[in-house]
Amino acid sequence: MFQPFNYLYSLFSNDMGIDLGTANTLVFVKGQGVVLREPSIVAIDDDSGRVLAVGNKAKNMVGRTPEKIRAVRPLRDGVIADFDVTEKMIRYFIDKVHKRRKFVSPRMVIGVPYGVTEVEKRAVMESAEHAGAREIHIIEEPLAAAIGAEMPVYEPAGNMVVDIGGGTTEVAVISMGGMVVARSARVGGDEMDVAIANHLRETYNLMIGERTAEEVKFEIGSVFEDQENDKRKYEIKGRDLTSGLPKTLSISGDEIREALAGPMDIIINSVKETLEETPPELSADITDRGIIVTGGGAKLRGVDKLLAENTGLPVTITEDPLTCVVRGTGMYLEELRRAEVENQEGF
Ligand code: ADP
Ligand code: MG
Repeated sequence: MFQPFNYLYSLFSNDMGIDLGTANTLVFVKGQGVVLREPSIVAIDDDSGRVLAVGNKAKNMVGRTPEKIRAVRPLRDGVIADFDVTEKMIRYFIDKVHKRRKFVSPRMVIGVPYGVTEVEKRAVMESAEHAGAREIHIIEEPLAAAIGAEMPVYEPAGNMVVDIGGGTTEVAVISMGGMVVARSARVGGDEMDVAIANHLRETYNLMIGERTAEEVKFEIGSVFEDQENDKRKYEIKGRDLTSGLPKTLSISGDEIREALAGPMDIIINSVKETLEETPPELSADITDRGIIVTGGGAKLRGVDKLLAENTGLPVTITEDPLTCVVRGTGMYLEELRRAEVENQEGF
């Protein structure tokens, strides 16, 4: 049956897909693409408990705030540490996107880290409801990542995705639209930044902040031998722990590569363990199709080569890995809509 109301509704709604990541939150709106991309950070006044800023504004406060302002990443470890703060963050992002068009409350597909509990999922759904969502679907991020990477996830065949995010690395084998085996390790880009900072402190008595460590990773970070990058030098500014004075050091790529070996070992192990748990028929598929890598960590130089060397499988870095999950939530919205239309037409 054709329902004119529903038809009109779909024209005016701005249904959205949200990637609620440990490091970044992204929002996708049909016909508009990725409309929001901000860090999953909230700045809170410790005295009053009030939220002072969310997203980009809050990130700029990290490390530069007076003591009573706290910058919180509510999803840092892939679990929701603080429901209240998470809710405020979700509402802020939804309102920011939604403000322009107020007529209809949207349908939402929200990607959450794998490992978030049922209780936490309910809390995310309630936050989205309070923010005005009409219908909410929660999707696990590895599944959304695989959809965004255009893997044939609905086929009865093994698809392996490795999503290296900020706080977690999620590894999953997907077949027929569901996750057959999955793991979440609490290691990702954050842990790499910490490894770089620790190395500089232990070796040179040089103290650097989180943001500087991340910059070093972007500039000369790598995880696989590469003569050109190994020789590249980068000037790192920090504070000398002995004198207490500002100090600048010139560090080369190979040294950073060694510092990143620890976190990378944990990621490799997680991938291997997942492969060991995979049913043989699906393993055979993965041998042919290989592994797809998504998430910000996929941009680290040499990740594909390192994973290929350690698994013996072909490895592909997905196109635009930072937006893969949110594009997947958008494609899932389309899938829901298509199923709805087919139902109405009596298929
Ligand atoms: P999440 O999904 O957990 O929010 P993202 O997929 O957004 O995480 O990835 C964020 C992580 O990716 C951060 O740790 C960031 O430092 C890292 N990252 C982003 N770009 C690069 C890059 N070019 N090289 C290395 N790491 C990167
Ligand atoms: Mg992610």
